[in-house]
Amino acid sequence: MQVHTHVALKPYNTFAVEAFAEHYATFSSPEALQELLSRKAFAHSPVILGGGSNVLFTGNPQAVLKNEVTGIERVGEDHHGIYVKAGAGERWHELVRYSIDQGWAGLENLSLIPGSVGAAPMQNIGAYGVEVKDVIHSLEAFHLREKRRVIFSAADCEFGYRESVFKHRYRGEFAILNVTFCLKKEPHFNLSYGTVRQELERMGVAKPTLRAVSEAIIRIRSSKLPDPAVIGNAGSFFKNPEVSAATYERLKEAFPDMVAYPVEDRFKLAAGWLIEACGWKGYRDPERPDGAGVHERQALVLVNHGRASGSEILALSEKIRESVQKKFGVSLHREVNVIG
Ligand code: NAP
Repeated sequence: MQVHTHVALKPYNTFAVEAFAEHYATFSSPEALQELLSRKAFAHSPVILGGGSNVLFTGNPQAVLKNEVTGIERVGEDHHGIYVKAGAGERWHELVRYSIDQGWAGLENLSLIPGSVGAAPMQNIGAYGVEVKDVIHSLEAFHLREKRRVIFSAADCEFGYRESVFKHRYRGEFAILNVTFCLKKEPHFNLSYGTVRQELERMGVAKPTLRAVSEAIIRIRSSKLPDPAVIGNAGSFFKNPEVSAATYERLKEAFPDMVAYPVEDRFKLAAGWLIEACGWKGYRDPERPDGAGVHERQALVLVNHGRASGSEILALSEKIRESVQKKFGVSLHREVNVIG
């Protein structure tokens, strides 16, 4: 296993910001990871990197280990469904594509999400009414300090809205090695988001299929969200804030157009709408056109127009957060993981 020094991380983060890892190596098995952790360079809190689609580097990390554990295999079947185990280093959309080719349902709404399989449980990725927690059976992770493998059931992961135990209590403690999903032979389509139904209609689909739903979502995402290969970004920068019914009523009266959805007895506000209402949509500093900006079609997505540093993107996000706080009295919380 080769350890590299002073490695440019630009190709390994979808924001495409410049950062350098003092020590860098890849691992494709638990044994390789264990071996690397025994070396001095990686002995203390290495950053475990997957697809780099949810990170913002604001400094130069000492040690980075890139997860390249691959493989997708069917490992069982029972009355709940088909069990599929995927290496954490697999590209997420490849797994979605593979499952659709096999006719296995459950991942179709999560089509085209950038990043790796290992990152999916980390932040319980979600889109169009489905969260990955709905289909995760269990996962295997490696405890970096204790150097042992641990199996987590879905309940052990304590999934929440873009949250899991790995982002909080166990932050920086584990590398996810593989994830086992329970997929269905019979699809139960979730078409609760109007945009998906409208896109299917536009495609002339009367009876949804796995492939059609996936295709509809690919079309919607491609039309609204910037491709990281073209313009640096990490998807949604902030989470949608949840507020009490009383706060919602007060805001709705002052801002009748505000986009919000009920979640049990609270309301989820569309963060993109709040940011847009503060005038940030499409923001690009005329004096620094190659710097940090806000996407022109989706205000929730911060972008790197070419030469923004991680600190500049973070500074812009703070300005956005302050203006939303000032106008609406609502706090935005980052979805993106800042690594200083
Ligand atoms: P959108 O369709 O313009 O909707 C704006 C917001 O309203 C979304 O954030 C969504 O919340 C919420 N929403 C819309 N219809 C809803 C419904 N029927 N029930 C409950 N909530 C509803 O949003 P978008 O930006 O194009 O994103 C579409 C989907 O892809 C969303 O689910 C979004 O979370 C997901 N996405 C995720 C990322 C990421 O980086 N994590 C990036 C882009 C898109 P939710 O976000 O809670 O679904």
